[in-house]
Amino acid sequence: MSKQLVIGEVSDGGFRNVSFEAIAAAKQLDESAEVVGVVIGESVASIAEEMVKYGADRVITVESDKLKEYTPEAYSQVLMEVIEKESPEGIVMGHTYIGRDIAPKLASKLGSGLVSDVTAIEGSSQFIRPIYSGKAFEKVEIEEGLQFITIRPNNIPALEKDEGRNGNVEALDVEVKDLQMIIKDVVKNTTSGVDLSEASIIVSGGRGLKSMENFKILDELAEVLGAAVGASRGACDAEYCDYALQIGQTGKVVTPDLYIAVGLSGAIQHVAGMSNSKVIVAINKDPEAEIFQIADYGIVGDLFDIVPKLTEEFRKAVV
Ligand code: FAD
Repeated sequence: MSKQLVIGEVSDGGFRNVSFEAIAAAKQLDESAEVVGVVIGESVASIAEEMVKYGADRVITVESDKLKEYTPEAYSQVLMEVIEKESPEGIVMGHTYIGRDIAPKLASKLGSGLVSDVTAIEGSSQFIRPIYSGKAFEKVEIEEGLQFITIRPNNIPALEKDEGRNGNVEALDVEVKDLQMIIKDVVKNTTSGVDLSEASIIVSGGRGLKSMENFKILDELAEVLGAAVGASRGACDAEYCDYALQIGQTGKVVTPDLYIAVGLSGAIQHVAGMSNSKVIVAINKDPEAEIFQIADYGIVGDLFDIVPKLTEEFRKAVV
């Protein structure tokens, strides 16, 4: 029986869903594996059991006021100690800003294999991951030794929550020391309550919106749908919205169930961040716009007519 460590990611006092997806991925690697959750933070013990309900066999918590916010230094000290103590065969985490940062650091320190941005697992050892900005997929295998896997959110479904599952939650004391960097405060810049990288519906706008004021019509549609708002770099560069919303090669990579692209052309750099969305709807007045080449449904017309109508119709449907 192998042992898989799954790093749980905490945000705003709860787990990010990708933590539970990582548990499912660990089980896929070895159905009989002992799955050990690891939760790091200032005060995380009270939520740790949630990982058990999603399939972890036990959970290790490491708490310290120095771990309130993610820093590569502090987290690598903790994870190196947990890995040494547990000697796992694999470590699975989300392909989030934390996973993207820390997995390669630890893998190189330990001389282990790393497969990043995994969207599916075939059998027990073959990892599928997008390459060339999502234009192709490659199949990767780690032949031997400890393996680090980061999984793209929203691709490997979490197991169903089982309220009846039990497992130990153990606190581990790790002395976090000699930190060069301490985060004093985090200022969040969000325009919607829904996290873009884990949203199941995204309404995304481009330069076609023409102003910051007009961009707000997307907020209304998003609110009715329970969606997050995203944007093209064109819209961000034009200051219609914040760069935190940018999707694409140099922005966020998203995989929602539904992506509604409004007034954006579908430049290759944008498509790189959203082409794996399950259903793509494009609204554009130019029937030749590139976005229609990857859209499942296309609406050719003026977004200023179409978007308010959609919002109105969805509102009726929701009530
Ligand atoms: P445009 O290309 O100007 O498209 C606007 C669209 O709106 C047009 O198709 C037009 O027909 C439509 N439109 C206009 N008015 C209306 C209306 N009333 N109703 C309906 N439709 C209308 N871009 C990203 O998005 N993400 C990235 O991460 C990214 N990274 C980049 C990295 C590099 C190195 C480079 C060089 C570029 C990058 N870009 C990125 C920029 C990218 O190449 C495009 O310039 C950008 O995506 C264009 O934004 P847009 O589609 O909003 O604007």
